[in-house]
Amino acid sequence: MKTRVAIIGGGASGLMAAIVAAKNNADVTIYEKSNRVGKKILATGNGRCNYTNINTSVNNYHGKNVDIINDVLDIFSVQNTLDFFEDIGIYPYFDESGKVYPYSLQASSVLDNLRLEAVKHNVKELTECNIRNLRKSKGQFDIITDDKIYNADKIIICTGGRAGSQFGCSGDGYKMADSLGHKTVTTFPALVQLKLESVFLKKISGVRYEGAVTSFVNSKVIRKEDGEILFTDYGISGPPVLQLSRETIEKLNTGQKVYLQVDSFPNLSKNELFELLKERFIKLKDRSLADTLIGLLNKKLIPVVLSEALNNYKDLTYSKLNKKQIYSIVNILKEWKFRVIGHNGWNQAQTTAGGVSLENIDINTFESKKVKGLYFAGEILDIDGDCGGFNLQFAWSSGYIAGYNASK
Ligand SMILES: Cc1cc2nc3c(=O)[nH]c(=O)nc-3n(C[C@H](O)[C@H](O)[C@H](O)COP(=O)(O)OP(=O)(O)OC[C@H]3O[C@@H](n4cnc5c(N)ncnc54)[C@H](O)[C@@H]3O)c2cc1C
Repeated sequence: MKTRVAIIGGGASGLMAAIVAAKNNADVTIYEKSNRVGKKILATGNGRCNYTNINTSVNNYHGKNVDIINDVLDIFSVQNTLDFFEDIGIYPYFDESGKVYPYSLQASSVLDNLRLEAVKHNVKELTECNIRNLRKSKGQFDIITDDKIYNADKIIICTGGRAGSQFGCSGDGYKMADSLGHKTVTTFPALVQLKLESVFLKKISGVRYEGAVTSFVNSKVIRKEDGEILFTDYGISGPPVLQLSRETIEKLNTGQKVYLQVDSFPNLSKNELFELLKERFIKLKDRSLADTLIGLLNKKLIPVVLSEALNNYKDLTYSKLNKKQIYSIVNILKEWKFRVIGHNGWNQAQTTAGGVSLENIDINTFESKKVKGLYFAGEILDIDGDCGGFNLQFAWSSGYIAGYNASK
């Protein structure tokens, strides 16, 4: 008789686990809460699905037992991921930073190919099937919904975390894990926009440009990132902000005062920017101070930067400006400081920091050390990656390992 493997949650890790287990001759059923599997995959990478990154290493991950990533990638590497996806129909597109997308640049092609492969191997899908709890009795598992109990020999919990709650992720898997005796490391949103304290935000909302962002506590740098930043009416967004949000929120959660510093000219030193501004002020000396900055700064930014830097800037022209005042403008442009007061929450977060503790999991198989026949994969575990394809890579690797071992 075939081993009956139940996959709880048909997201990235669940689909991978299902295909691998079914290929290995298991009788596989995916139990999915939403009306279709893989909804979140469609939203990944801005609809293009950045499904891995050729520069993946342990340095791109976080969690209490982050070192396990080395072993996980030894078992199912980025190259294995590229090969797996090429085999099922995804031709890769590599961007200059190492991110990998399907050549079609459509996340739907990743999901379509995963589903076609699942169908080929007779994976069954039960959608709109909200699993309430799991129980082990008499050598098999009960899979409990509101009105039915299903059975399986092995279970893989792939319910994701709490991030992207609009895609069906609301932390259900933690309750299942808890009821079967597993510890969870406190969760919080990661890869999410940050809320800032500033009276200027409404005025500069929508301003975007290439800059650098540093978060720090008590003058100690937490993390620095550069790239396109976007001011919004609640705070700040953009890839560098998402990238440093995890460490920033972790500190915020300890009650410490956390600040963000925005460098609007990361390629110029303070002295170089001083010289650039001075030359500009001299060349355009007949203009008001604000008008001299048109073409250098976004127009929405000009009055805000000048009023942050100077008293009564409207009365000033270059001829009345001293060196200290020019340096005040330089300081705002190079080290604009904002207090971080929060984040945009689970709905907007791209991943979950924390999760089911890896201390209870055998990393070679992803089987629980507490309950034989029970496996975990994906974001539900206490591992989260940076932006750039690393979270999906972990979902594929852990899904592969759990699916392969559950099928035995
Ligand atoms: C907007 C957005 C963009 C992203 N872009 C990228 C990207 O480009 N690259 C990258 O690497 N990562 C990206 N991520 C992160 C990545 O999508 C996730 O880390 C990854 O999907 C996690 O896979 P998973 O299988 O663990 O969980 P998920 O893919 O979240 O799947 C979990 C599934 O379980 C189901 N489920 C939950 N509870 C139950 C229940 N009680 N019963 C039955 N089913 C249940 C859910 O409906 C869902 O389908 C993005 C995330 C978001 C939100």
